[in-house]
Amino acid sequence: MVVYLIMSCLSLLIFGAGISSDCWAGDFIIAIDPGHTINSPGATSARGVDEYLFNQNTGALLHQQLLKDKRFKRSFIINETGDDISLSARAAIANQQGAHLLVSIHHDSVQPKDLSQWLYQGRFLPYCDKFTGYSIFYSEKNGSPLNSLIFAVILGSEMLKARFCPTLHHAEKFTGGDKDLIDKTRGIYKYNNLVVLKKTNMPAVLFECGIIKNREAELQLGNPQYQHKLVAGLFNAIKIFFSQTTVSGP
Ligand SMILES: [Zn+2]
Repeated sequence: MVVYLIMSCLSLLIFGAGISSDCWAGDFIIAIDPGHTINSPGATSARGVDEYLFNQNTGALLHQQLLKDKRFKRSFIINETGDDISLSARAAIANQQGAHLLVSIHHDSVQPKDLSQWLYQGRFLPYCDKFTGYSIFYSEKNGSPLNSLIFAVILGSEMLKARFCPTLHHAEKFTGGDKDLIDKTRGIYKYNNLVVLKKTNMPAVLFECGIIKNREAELQLGNPQYQHKLVAGLFNAIKIFFSQTTVSGP
């Protein structure tokens, strides 16, 4: 119901706060935040590849796509070199650079209880084929929570349009976390204490592209055509989000 209302009122609500009139020149800065670092690479895929490498690749593809559009030419990648950096520092960089939207890019894992073992290239590695799909997180503690949610709704809608499916496994209660599934259809979760989201002033979401512990999904997520389709969905959502200013601006 909440999401329905948001979609219904989208053109009226968007950018009530958080985007200044300077943007009317069409200069929107997107901060792309590839999750994790070289030394602390996040999850490990079913075939033993670090999550950071997936995040770095998707972040770079999105950046290239944004640079082709002059409205987004000042977009940048946070911590492009993959150095050790805190989550707060990531948010601080986005704030200092005056970003209008932050998109944190991740690739997902599962709970240890859902893992099985398989033999891959002589090594026993954990995997989980039980879950697959993307997920989107936003925080109500973010500096622009309503616009974060609006962007999440647009992104989820674009993902569905491109025939991607969300995973609902983060909603399992045993995790004890504060992830709250608020839109099952679009795979949107409220995750208020996610640091990189709650410390940013501009609208922000964290996008889990897919589950790399899933053997089939890992292959898809490593496939250039699939990556192109995923990045096209992200780019379309960004364009739609910022086009709303043209509809409802001052
Ligand atoms: Zn991650």
